Amino acid sequence: MVNKSEKTLVLIKPDAVQRTLIGEIIQRFERIGLKLAAMKMTVASGDHIEKHYTLDPEWRRKVGEKTIKNYKEKGQNPPSEDPIEISQPVLEGLVKFMSAGPLIAMVWEGAHAVKIVRKLVGGTEPLASDVGTIRGDYVLDSYEMSDTDGRAIRNLVHASGSSEEAEMEINHWFSQNEIISYRLVQDEILYDVNLDGILD
Ligand code: GDP
Ligand code: MG
Repeated sequence: MVNKSEKTLVLIKPDAVQRTLIGEIIQRFERIGLKLAAMKMTVASGDHIEKHYTLDPEWRRKVGEKTIKNYKEKGQNPPSEDPIEISQPVLEGLVKFMSAGPLIAMVWEGAHAVKIVRKLVGGTEPLASDVGTIRGDYVLDSYEMSDTDGRAIRNLVHASGSSEEAEMEINHWFSQNEIISYRLVQDEILYDVNLDGILD
């Protein structure tokens, strides 16, 4: 059965705040029918960001492997063949970037929330992410440019990649009493089976 209260964590990263895109980004999640369950603006510590990215003990290996693959696809030699080693500068860049200014942390709720949000956000590298997605529409960064400049890629948003990731990340950013359970009038149209509450 589909969980109509599935939750996912979204971070509006410091670059998006600086680009004054908070409203644009929130609007996309609102208008698809997701419900905002929690939100805060904060300047995160480096330690909090490092923990966020390493909640999944496999993250270093996965990102390292992905980075090596990306280099090879471009016909370039990766700086290292060891995924764990190559993930270290990626993580350091992320810590610096994500704690450089205010960000917005949010929990969005609804049927298929994790996948719907990932679809709206688009692929990790803005150069390759689809037109119509947040990363495809509002920013022009690339791995080539960010790697050359020795910094994290500026891709505006973070969104949980799976329900398991979402649960860990939501607990990392919010306490239970900050997550609000409430009804929206539109829930009737999105989820009601009979549509028998419209006419008098
Ligand atoms: P996301 O879920 O689409 O944000 O991507 P990941 O969880 O795989 O990666 C998290 C972050 O790590 C990204 O936002 C990038 O900053 C960085 N990252 C991931 N893959 C690569 C890569 O192949 N090269 C570089 N330079 N950074 C990467
Ligand atoms: Mg991810």
